[in-house]
Amino acid sequence: MADKITVGNVEIMAVLDMIPPPRAATAMFPDTTVEDWAPHEDALENGQLQLYYGCFVIRSQGQVILVDTGLGPGPHPDRGNVTGNLYEELRPILIPADRLNNTNVSPSDEINTVVHTHLHGDHIGWNVRYQGGMPAPTFRKARYLVPKADWDYFTAPENADSNPMVQRYVAPLRRLRKMDLVEGEHNITDEVSTLPTPGHTPGHQAILVSSQGEKAIVVGDVLHSKAQVQESAWCAGVDIDKSQSRQSREKVLDMSENEGYVIAAGHFSNADHIGKVIRLEGRRYWQAL
Ligand SMILES: [Zn+2]
Repeated sequence: MADKITVGNVEIMAVLDMIPPPRAATAMFPDTTVEDWAPHEDALENGQLQLYYGCFVIRSQGQVILVDTGLGPGPHPDRGNVTGNLYEELRPILIPADRLNNTNVSPSDEINTVVHTHLHGDHIGWNVRYQGGMPAPTFRKARYLVPKADWDYFTAPENADSNPMVQRYVAPLRRLRKMDLVEGEHNITDEVSTLPTPGHTPGHQAILVSSQGEKAIVVGDVLHSKAQVQESAWCAGVDIDKSQSRQSREKVLDMSENEGYVIAAGHFSNADHIGKVIRLEGRRYWQAL
């Protein structure tokens, strides 16, 4: 299935950080039962919910934009000691083949902008790397765009314990003056902008691409499983405001079904992570591209 699509003059490329251990679908979606999942076997792998931790690279108007940065290098004891591979996976995507063996050429230099859909740990892990206890930005030439409502929420004293990775992987960017807070609809280029899609987190945002009449949307955690294309009311247990989450999901699914937006969903499998919503006999379906 597609790892790369063009949207008018824009390119969108999928890049995988890691595949964490699978979970029971009812653990991820605590308001669902095993029976609820029976018609959605195609959204499971060996009967379990297998999330992927995927990111996307967008090339637009000479700019290279990385959407989210995975869980980070690891190994991650709370994910079966899996390691993150985003940085190495970016190499062949960003660097021409004839320069790949040149160790002076680094993916770090190729990224102009890192934009976060939200600040959960599996989306911020490669932001900075620590050497001798000191953080340095992994993407040293990039501005990091952080949704202001997430920054405000996760740095509030009463919520800080819920997401300690923000202090480790986002806060240093502010001290290093690499971070910009964004809110509302923010243009990254003339073709790429943010769209608030709150619910999963207060500042959750999707990334819109529009060029030459073609459109796409990187949806972050508005969708965790393709079962939610049919069951749009299903919320992940980690969605902070479930009613808002449902509204954002409905909006995004409508945009795909009715306005032709291609959806890029980083938590879907490699076979499914770029697709669109179609309607057959009154029901929505996910159609991978
Ligand atoms: Zn996530």
